[in-house]
Amino acid sequence: MKGDFTSAATFPVKLLHNPVIQHGKVVPYHITMIPTNVCNKDCAECFCYERDKEKELPLSEIEKIVDESYNLGTRAISLSGGGEPDCHPDINQIISYIHNEGIDVALVTNGKNLHRIQDRELSLLDWIRVSGTSSSPTDFRKLKLDIERAPDTGWALSYILSEFEPSDYNNLKQAVEFSNHPPTFFDDKWAFFTGNHNYGSISHLRVVSDMKYPNENRLPIARENIRKSLDDSKVVWQERTTNKRGSKECLVPLVHPIVDANGDMQPCCGAHFATKSPAYKYEKETAICNWKDYHKYVEEQTIYDGTKCDICQYSQYNDVLKMLLDKPKNRKFV
Ligand code: SF4
Ligand code: SF4
Repeated sequence: MKGDFTSAATFPVKLLHNPVIQHGKVVPYHITMIPTNVCNKDCAECFCYERDKEKELPLSEIEKIVDESYNLGTRAISLSGGGEPDCHPDINQIISYIHNEGIDVALVTNGKNLHRIQDRELSLLDWIRVSGTSSSPTDFRKLKLDIERAPDTGWALSYILSEFEPSDYNNLKQAVEFSNHPPTFFDDKWAFFTGNHNYGSISHLRVVSDMKYPNENRLPIARENIRKSLDDSKVVWQERTTNKRGSKECLVPLVHPIVDANGDMQPCCGAHFATKSPAYKYEKETAICNWKDYHKYVEEQTIYDGTKCDICQYSQYNDVLKMLLDKPKNRKFV
């Protein structure tokens, strides 16, 4: 199901499948953690270039955050950037620790150095989304080898389409072809892809237009071009055209906050797409609190003023959470 991995600009059906409200309170069921701001790439599309690129959470603090999160109700943690999670020196221990705590763990990565994650830890991940961009596309020869190491993990691709895309859409085409990955593709085009393969399958390829320029939607022309020669049935063309200012009463920081590399809680994974500073920077001024104080934020069910977010992709999350909190009296009469 393509919608398994995408949440921005979609109806948040997963909220209906999980106990995101417990004892009348919204709990942080899914946390995105940024273990490090260090990155091994220099993409032209990078939206977090202004962050302190040396900042990193020590393993000992990550373990405390994971313990605290579990107690608050967290059952899923995705490791993500800005920064590349596998640049953290203890990435294997982090994955193991989260998994052993009884929390599902996933990874958003640029895929450049996935070999830093051992086979066992790669297999502990529930899903991995490998992100490429027009200026810095994924190395699919390398990725194929990593997929072979963990064929049972859910693999997905994402792609930021920007002004750096070649005019023939060649970089995007490679991503679409890889997501389809019929064996003939590998055999014909990638000389060493021969013999019996034990591939995990790619669930989907999410394509978004460069969010540094939210008013330029590059997707319609790209889609038309791709469809001339390729099957795009695995592509989620995530248009994100319904950009609007955030809600005055935003509950998203209660259900899916971010822990940044400073150990501060950021309101949501979309807040950094706001077009103006300071939201763009994901630093102290955008944080809701330090992780040590977040339990109070949850206990008090603090409402976040999202009007400071220029662009919000998660307005439907607020609609659904408000509906779920407002329990109907005769709810059994479905
Ligand atoms: S991989 Fe991500 S964090 Fe690193 S430079 Fe590229 S966009 Fe930025
Ligand atoms: S209003 Fe801001 S914090 Fe709330 S969901 Fe939208 S972008 Fe995120």
